[in-house]
Amino acid sequence: MTAYPQKITFGEMREIGTRDVLVYCRDPKCGHRMTFNADCWPDDMRLSDIEPDFVCVACGKRGADLRPKFSQAHIGAG
Ligand SMILES: [Zn+2]
Repeated sequence: MTAYPQKITFGEMREIGTRDVLVYCRDPKCGHRMTFNADCWPDDMRLSDIEPDFVCVACGKRGADLRPKFSQAHIGAG
């Protein structure tokens, strides 16, 4: 079984009521963060499968960390 929520599939993510993903730049000096609607990705694809495909719009680095975007109340006023 997977231990971390970011390793779940898009289908599993939708099952828990999450429709968006947060994409974090892998460069800690950049720290750029984006939100994407996940409806375009198939249910059997893992979030981690598309991480290498992202290119940061701020610094141009390839690769990102994807996490399910839980409800605002769960995240807090970050
Ligand atoms: Zn960046």
